[in-house]
Amino acid sequence: MDMPTYEYRCQDCDKEFSLVLSMAQHDREQVVCPGCGSHRVTQKFSTFFAKTSRKS
Ligand SMILES: [Zn+2]
Repeated sequence: MDMPTYEYRCQDCDKEFSLVLSMAQHDREQVVCPGCGSHRVTQKFSTFFAKTSRKS
């Protein structure tokens, strides 16, 4: 299953980061800045990576 990557920017420490979340996770989970732990993050845009290669 392809997972979308969400781009975020923290409003507190100005850190930019990306998260790979499923649609369900994106709807449900509170995104937290990995740098300072703030919840005041804004989503920039989402990019869909079509990763077909899978190591099994
Ligand atoms: Zn932060």
